[in-house]
Amino acid sequence: MSGIPEGAQVSEDGHWWWDGSAWQAVEDAWDTVQEAASDAWDWATGNDEGGTTSGGGASGSYDDGDLAPEHAVCSLGPCPSCAESDQVSAPCVLESGHDSVHQCAQGDYWEQSDASEAALPLVFGTPVATAMLTYDSGSDTISATGNTTGWPRGTIDVVGDIYCDGQVVHRQENTCRSATACTLPTWSTTPDPGTRWEHVVTGSGPRYGPVEDTEQVDVP
Ligand SMILES: [Zn+2]
Ligand SMILES: [Zn+2]
Repeated sequence: MSGIPEGAQVSEDGHWWWDGSAWQAVEDAWDTVQEAASDAWDWATGNDEGGTTSGGGASGSYDDGDLAPEHAVCSLGPCPSCAESDQVSAPCVLESGHDSVHQCAQGDYWEQSDASEAALPLVFGTPVATAMLTYDSGSDTISATGNTTGWPRGTIDVVGDIYCDGQVVHRQENTCRSATACTLPTWSTTPDPGTRWEHVVTGSGPRYGPVEDTEQVDVP
């Protein structure tokens, strides 16, 4: 026998050795290994009807994936976005055996390693907030709007605080349900000359922390 570490357990027929977690074929002519494979399987799983061996029962030492039906559905979940937004239980529709990023029929994504773990809504990229503050000298108007985008589907909140020379003069707010983005209503006013304006937009939604953006404009 070749290729067997010193002291390794070897099957009775001499074609397999135990590496501590799986049965490995002893380096040998492949057809010989093939002939021995079914015997070794019986031995490894303890299915030897002859009853002449002992110490078998090493279940799980062969790749169980080969035995799974083809095109089985993963069905892990339920999808956290569907649960929150639609109050429905939506399982993963991808083929079983894929990685830990799951997808429901609605197109939501979530992360989950196994059924015992909480499902975490997922986006590719990161949520962002955008503040838009402009002064139009023709109409002598300063106007503010903004939004937040890139969230997992759910309840999205966006808040815009408008400051003039460091004092809050107006707060914009909006809440969007079953959404991945939310936009602020536009607010505008006629500013005093020589004032400094600031617009701070904060977006929040499922799983990820709040995001913020600031714009500043000096009125001549
Ligand atoms: Zn979903
Ligand atoms: Zn899945």
